[in-house]
Order: sequence, then C-alpha cells, then structure tokens
Amino acid sequence: MTTTIDQLLDNMTLEEQVSLLAGADFWTTVPVPRLGVPAYKVTDGPNGARGGSFQGGVTTACFPVGIGMGATWNPALVQEAGRALADEALHKGARVLLAPTVNLHRSTLNGRNFECYAEDPWLTGELAVAYIRGLQAGGVAATIKHFVGNESEVERMSMSSDVGERALRELYLLPFEKAVKEAGVWAVMTAYNRINGSFAADHRALVHDVLRGQWGFDGLVMSDWFAEHDTVASITAGLDLEMPGPARQRGALLVKAVEDGRVAAADVRAAACNVLRLAERVNALAQPSITPEQAVDLPERRALIRRLGAEGAVLLKNDGGLLPLAASAQTLALIGPNVDVAQIMGGGSATVNALHRITPRDGITAQTGATLFTAVGADNHRWLPVLRVPMRIEFFASTDLSGQVLLEKTYPSSEQLWVGQVEPGMDSGNFSARATLVYTPLEDGEHAISLASAGLTRCHVDGQLVVDNWTTWQRGETYFTFGSDERIGRCTLRAGVPVTITLAYTTATPEPVPIKALRLGLHKLRGEAELLAAEAAARQAEVAIVFIGLNAEWDCEGLDRPHMQLPHHQNELVKRVVAANPKTVVVLQTGAPVELPWLDSVPAVLQAWYPGQENGHAIADVLFGAAEPGGRLPQTWPRQLADVATSGDTLRYPGKDGHVVYDEGVFIGYRHHQARGIAPLFPFGHGLSYTRFALGSVTTSSLSIEPDGVLAVALPVTNTGSRSGSTVVQLYVADLQASVPRPPQELKRFAKLHIAPGAIAVAHSLIDMRALAFWDEAAGLWRAEAGDFELRIGTSADDIVHRVTITLTGDWTGTP
Ligand code: BGC
Repeated sequence: MTTTIDQLLDNMTLEEQVSLLAGADFWTTVPVPRLGVPAYKVTDGPNGARGGSFQGGVTTACFPVGIGMGATWNPALVQEAGRALADEALHKGARVLLAPTVNLHRSTLNGRNFECYAEDPWLTGELAVAYIRGLQAGGVAATIKHFVGNESEVERMSMSSDVGERALRELYLLPFEKAVKEAGVWAVMTAYNRINGSFAADHRALVHDVLRGQWGFDGLVMSDWFAEHDTVASITAGLDLEMPGPARQRGALLVKAVEDGRVAAADVRAAACNVLRLAERVNALAQPSITPEQAVDLPERRALIRRLGAEGAVLLKNDGGLLPLAASAQTLALIGPNVDVAQIMGGGSATVNALHRITPRDGITAQTGATLFTAVGADNHRWLPVLRVPMRIEFFASTDLSGQVLLEKTYPSSEQLWVGQVEPGMDSGNFSARATLVYTPLEDGEHAISLASAGLTRCHVDGQLVVDNWTTWQRGETYFTFGSDERIGRCTLRAGVPVTITLAYTTATPEPVPIKALRLGLHKLRGEAELLAAEAAARQAEVAIVFIGLNAEWDCEGLDRPHMQLPHHQNELVKRVVAANPKTVVVLQTGAPVELPWLDSVPAVLQAWYPGQENGHAIADVLFGAAEPGGRLPQTWPRQLADVATSGDTLRYPGKDGHVVYDEGVFIGYRHHQARGIAPLFPFGHGLSYTRFALGSVTTSSLSIEPDGVLAVALPVTNTGSRSGSTVVQLYVADLQASVPRPPQELKRFAKLHIAPGAIAVAHSLIDMRALAFWDEAAGLWRAEAGDFELRIGTSADDIVHRVTITLTGDWTGTP
C-alpha cells in the first residue's frame, strides 16, 4: 500500500513539517529519511540546466536566451525545447527547473531583458505555456518566475514596483495566469522586489488571493534566492519554500511562531503538503534516487538548438537582397569583436557551462571556402576581459592570509565565482586566498588592469601594487550586487615579457555577502589602429560582415544597462567599414534593442540575440540561406531611449526613494508608441523573410459576437516567392468604443506558418471574450463592452493588411 501525502503529514512532527519549508542548501530541499521522504534538487534555467556548480560545473547544452526564444514566435518549437530541457535537468540530477522567466520588457535597459521573452503579455504567455508543457511532459517541474513586477534590476532586492491593478492584470500577471490555467504549472518563484509596498514573498493578496484563490494554483511557491524577509508574513501569504537553505526565516523561528500562535499549524501543514505534492509530481517520492550530474552531448540536441537560433534570428533590413550571401562569394571580410567570441548567453543565474561555443568564424568556415580577411575593429566589453591563463589559488583558513596553506587549486581563468560551498573542507564564509598568474603580454604599452570582487582584493604586478580593492571595498554592481564596482589601474607592459600577477583575497568584507568571487581583468584598449585594419579588411573583400553587439556583462542579472548605445568604438567601426565597402552586413548580438545611428547606410542587418551554444552555426545558416531568418521582434525597437515608455521621469525609471512607479499603466512597448504616435525604428513583430508572402482575404464565422460567444477567423497565406520560408500572421484587437483609455490595438492571436514556394497555409484563430476585455478596476473583474471592435491582421504592429469590424452585441463580464 502506498503512503499518501496526508498520511506522511499525519506522521510528521511540527519540526519535520517545518524542515520541509526551507532548502537544505543552495539547490536541494530537506529530506525526512525517517519517513522515506527524499530531498530533491532544483536548478537554473531558463536557457539550459546548469546543475549544482555556479561556475565551471559539469557541461550542459546551452539553448537560446529568452528574447531569442521570444523572437521565434513559435510555441510548437519552444515546447520541443521545453521537452529537451526536461532531459537536460534530469542529466543534472534535478527535478525542478527554475524557469521560464516571464517578466515583461517594460524598460529596454532592464539587465534581464534578455532572459524574458517579450514586451507583450500574450506572446510571453503563449510561449511560457508551451515551454512549461514541454518541460512538465518530461517529468520536470517548471518554476515560472518572478512573480511579479520584476522589470528592472535597480535596487532589485528592495525596490517597490508600484503598479496599478489594471496594468497588473492585463500585462504583468497575464503570463502567470496562462501558465496556471493552461499549462498547469507546478511551481512559481516570487520576485525579489516589493509590489505596492509589500515584498513579493509576503504578498498575501497576490499569492494567496490571486494565484491560489482566483486562479486555483495548487503547486509550490518558492522565494527567490535570499528574498524571504518575514517568517510570519511569508507563510501566511502562501509562500511554501524558503530558498536557498539552510533556513533563515523558517526552521526554529517558524516552529516558535506556531507555538506562540502567530502562525496557524494548518498553514505549515498546507505548505509542507505543497512541497510533498511537488515531490510526488516529479516522481521523487516513488523514485527517490536520481543519476549524478553528467554531461550529455546529443546530435539531435545540437540540431534543435541550431534550429531555434535561426528561427529566432530577425532580419531587420535587407536592401537589394544582399542576404542570403551568394554561394559564389570568393572573399569575405569578418570584422568585429564577436568574430572569434561566441556570444551565446546573457549573464547571471541563467549562465551555464556550455558543452561548446561555436564562434561566427567557426560557423562560417564550416559553410564556405571563401578567403577570409578578419579584423577585430573595436571592443564591446563592460568589464575588462579576464585572462584565459591558469590561476593558482592558495587558500588559508584565516581571513588575513596568515597560517598554513589549507588547499591549493588551479582554475582556468582569472575569474572565480563561488556560490554555496567554496571548496570541500573549507569554511566558505571565512577564508583568505592568494592567487598567482603568469601573463605574457601580446603588445607593448599601457594596459588597463582591473579588480572586481565579492570579498576584498588587491593586485600586484611583479611586486608593484596596481589595484587596491581592499581598503576602499564596498558593494557595487558586480556579482548580483554582492560584488564591488570594477576598480581600474594602469601598468606598462612589454610584448613577450612575462609578468607575475598576484592577488590577495579575503572574505572579511565590512558587510557580509552570501557569495564569494574574484575577478582580474587586463586589456590593451583598442582604437584607431584597429579601425584602420578593419577598413583595410573590408576593402579587400566582396562583402564585409561586422559582428558587433553587447555581451553577458551588459545583458546581465543584477544590474541594468546604463544607456542604449553600443559600447566603445562599435558604431564608428560600422561607419568606417560601410564607407570602405558598401556591401556590408551587420550581425548584431544583444539582449535588447540598441541605437543604430548608421542604419541608413548599411544595407543588411541581422539580429541574432544570444542563440546558445550553436551560435556561429545558426548565424551562418541564415547568412548563407541554409535557414530562413525566422525571427520577428518580440520588443518594439525604439529609435532612442527617450522614446521608451519609461523615459523622462526618474520615478517611472529607474525609480526614486525605493519606489518605481508604473504610472504609464498599460501603455508599454507598442501600446505606448502607437498611443503617443512615436514611430519606432522597427515595430513590434517586424522581421523580413527571404521569400514573399501574400495574405489572402479574411473570413470570419460572423461579424457579430454575443456575450460569452466565440468567433472564428481564418486567413490563407501564399508563399509567392521561390524559396521555402516562414511568416508570422499577427492579429491585433482595437476596441473602438471603450469607456476607459485602451491601447490603440493589442496582440491577441498569432500563427507562425512555414510555407513551401507556391503553397498556401491557413492561419486559424478563435476570438473569445478575454480577447476583447479589459480589467475593470472598480468591479474587480474582466469586462468587454458592447460595441464595435476592429480585428487588425498583418505582419507587424505597424504593418496591418486587413481590418475587419465585428460587433459585440451585449456587455460581458468575467471572473478573475
Ligand atoms: C535569480 C533567480 C534564480 C536564483 C537561483 C536569483 O538570483 O533571480 O532567477 O533562479 O537566483 O539561482
């Protein structure tokens, strides 16, 4: 006879039930061996399954980042990715993936923009539902995050996102609502921030009332890491699991709160029940043992990631049909900082140790025998690049490098991050270390050298102190804001003459920080000489391809980007290259829009995002036409920062006195641009194909719809070109007679169609009441008002091909 969860709970002491309500360590829950209840492991997410080590762990498949998935507009493919990620998580011994991330692109500067799918809640919700279905079909729980209002990283652990109820319901909550109601998601992670003053982890109105009460969520709610602040408030709000462990707000504090009558024993039991129910859903109760972490490199996984990369690549511009490149090209110039650096993902907790990283040069040489002229041209780093040389570290048990060396270990680069256990046998919270590297400079001259660390650091080059990040250390921007800002010194080096660099490190920071890290950067900044070399390379080739963008330091959890520009000389680089060779293609890799001041003079621009480990292959597939550029923008591309909904008011962004006020309401992204008549550089939904499509006439099942009714819409699309290709038919709804200010139109349905040359495919969709409704704040329910609505069908928010007016014959209201 199997034991039911209720029987397990009946047999547990209060202490045992409470023990389930916080992690054991960074990634696992607490077991109750007496009753055969196993621990289970969670892992990040979303673009892979990292496993237990934050850095340098067992390698794993790296998928495209969220915005790259968002750009596919292809739920079926994202579902396949979710299914594959279930296997990836199991290969890392994990039964719960901390994904997907479904916060919206409110401010384009958000450091985690790259990790989120889109600015639009419907697109985000559809993709999240698909991802979750795939993942959970593979027996692994999804943990949709961050619930809710986490649209910026500024003061991320304390900021209050002050959001009106209507914007919450129509925009920010919608992906979570769909995930609960349509995908039956098994877990939710609360956000770091506060919402209208209360921490997300303590937010009873949102967790208990909306998520569980109104939507019927019966899964597990966990805190974001270190985001639980209040023993009583969080359990009363309905937060089940404090992460990571060991318990800080739970454990003895929670037992005492129950004994004192401040927390109901029934609330503890209900939370423990949710922890056990998740264990049951992921099969941990029936099969407690799971394989240890292993690296699994499968050809079909590589192929899927490659397909996802091309399917999300957005061809922004292609004047004169410069792309795809002619197979006959004999010479190509590959220029830019990303030619030999594979920008495969963003930064922060979504980082994985990828199985491999295909650079654009690797991908291109696999597909062409053309002679290549290459030049790096410009920098794109945020922090000075780390050295890829061995770093030997001697660890001391003291915090001042005194006493015996406890342990000695060599790491592969000049950066090391420890989350959780530092090294076996060490007290991870209290130690010091001496790191030694030998570096042979490639060039003569002044070099910049930098330190950033979670812990105090100091750096000597051949015995000379060059950077002091010890006496003046304070928390800054790096390492999830637990590290310092980058401190930069200078030293003059000679090409070919090795120097010995030593770093001293201690955990003894003035305020304790939960992770430990040290990072040495060293670089000779690039300038005019590199620009001249780039021009020369461009001149020699038939076509110049410039690989530029941002990287995982700019598109990174923990800090927003300071501006919307390409850093260093990258804009100058493009201008000089296109002046030298008008046949120039720019391949951009960013996790968000950036200003493109040279756009008018460059004939072709491809946005490849961070497409995962197959990076160079996916990019080359699109450049040479083996694959269609399948992506469409999941975020409006503004001309400049001033055009974004959050610009112009510090309260709106980045926030003031601990509050960021979402007073633009429902007007973000294209809703804002269209309502205010601000033309974007590229509209939401935009992306070119290598073929042409003709949108036929729309048919609807009726031109009127009754309250509670549905209306079917169909549209045939013909591929009138000579190649196979894909298009995304987008259906926006405009409420023509609303009693509240509504966006001019909102995306309510879309269909991605892959069509052979000369063939026809039909996009079908059903319009229901929620597609017409807005959130009625006074009544606390959904309302669609009788009257006329326009269905606008096209291939971007600004490219509307058909308009059909339908009439709702009476008022409709719907429960939350
Ligand atoms: C992030 C979460 C992540 C967690 C565990 C936090 O810093 O906000 O998204 O899942 O860390 O790594």
